[in-house]
Amino acid sequence: MYAELIAIGDELTSGQRLDTNTRWLAQRLEEIGVTVIFHTTVGDDLAANIAAFRAAAERAEVVVSTGGLGPTADDLTRQALAGAAGEELVPDPVVLEHIRRLFARRQRPMPERNAVQALFPRGSRPIPNPHGTAPGIALGLPRQNGPPARVFALPGVPAEMFAMWEQSVLPAVQQLPRAHTGLARCIRHHTLRCFGVGESELEAMLPDLIRRGRQPRVGITVSRATITLRITATATTPHACQQLIEPTAATIRECLGDLVFGEGEDELQDAVIRLLADARQTVSSVEYGPGGLLAHWLSRGEPEGLVYRGGWVLRDSPPTLPDSPAGLTPTPTSDGDALVAVTEQARAEFATDWCLAVGPFPPSDADRQPAGHVQLALVGPHGPQHQFLPFAGHPDVLTARTVKQVLNLLRHQLLATKRRTPYNRSCMRVMGCESSESLGRG
Ligand code: AMP
Ligand code: MG
Repeated sequence: MYAELIAIGDELTSGQRLDTNTRWLAQRLEEIGVTVIFHTTVGDDLAANIAAFRAAAERAEVVVSTGGLGPTADDLTRQALAGAAGEELVPDPVVLEHIRRLFARRQRPMPERNAVQALFPRGSRPIPNPHGTAPGIALGLPRQNGPPARVFALPGVPAEMFAMWEQSVLPAVQQLPRAHTGLARCIRHHTLRCFGVGESELEAMLPDLIRRGRQPRVGITVSRATITLRITATATTPHACQQLIEPTAATIRECLGDLVFGEGEDELQDAVIRLLADARQTVSSVEYGPGGLLAHWLSRGEPEGLVYRGGWVLRDSPPTLPDSPAGLTPTPTSDGDALVAVTEQARAEFATDWCLAVGPFPPSDADRQPAGHVQLALVGPHGPQHQFLPFAGHPDVLTARTVKQVLNLLRHQLLATKRRTPYNRSCMRVMGCESSESLGRG
């Protein structure tokens, strides 16, 4: 079954207000197996609204609109529905009485304009509004191919709309006969999160999974250098969806290996913190450019402070450190000795197994040729690592990507260590004793 969502209001089309109702409703519809095929946003214009409802009714079995049900002259949804259905507006005396009583309870006279909220296209039904004066409108709009589209018009005020969805629209949509739209369906999503390559490079590593029309569908989105692969399965039961999702998720994991760091809402720092917690290790940080982003992500990812022990957020280029405990003032050199020295110093100061460092940032100028470089450093139980990375791209993405790159450096180190030592620490200690004993005896 397909649905279309219509958001109505000049405040939306002019960009002054963000349409959050559509996002919320799309998620609720997908949860019950209804595929949302169109989002329409339309201003407060009668002809445009009539056209929007007619077009939606032709391409979707269920149409849910929000907005335009108020009493003022710019609220045109009831007139638009009447126009689209070719019906006249008739007063509903029960609703009119209800609105009068609401005003009486607030000890205010009902403005005459509010009477329009008791007008309904002939043949429609009011949808009760427990939190406001404007009831919604439910009606069928004729369509060329098949039975009438079911239209639910709800007010724009989010709190009113949520309650009316739960109380009236959700049960009505769930009861719609699905015979003409195929079997009852459910939709499930599973997301895999990746970092380390660009999106087209990543797509090229997957065997034709992103193809449209594939079941399950795989979509790819990028946000601040993190790539999300979203697997969407449609089937008759949640279990059947899961069975469709699993082989595709397994193929992705196999093709991408360590590029996949997590699932769902996981961020790179969550993956790093999990690996550190498993190894019972700790980390600290030094940053010269990101303004605390690395410290923020690590501390938010692990509020207890057992894994992330703290960090230095500095503005100057290395090396000058305030209250440098060892009086260390190394000279910056092109091979990154200075950053490594400061990283080692922070690692000692915070007494952590690892310390990550980023920076300093070169002047960020998108047109600069050649691009500047940023330094990353990682100091841990196996000594220091240091990298220079090109610092080019949009400034909004650059900081996040650079911080993710240093987190990813540590993630790869931790994965490599984990693979070399597949037992946990206590286990290793016992095994170590056994082997040295046996060596000694031999
Ligand atoms: P209306 O029902 O058109 O009078 O809308 C009432 C109020 O609800 C508007 O002033 C907005 O603040 C809010 N609103 C309307 N449509 C939306 C939407 N799609 N998303 C979020 N808020 C909305
Ligand atoms: Mg409005």
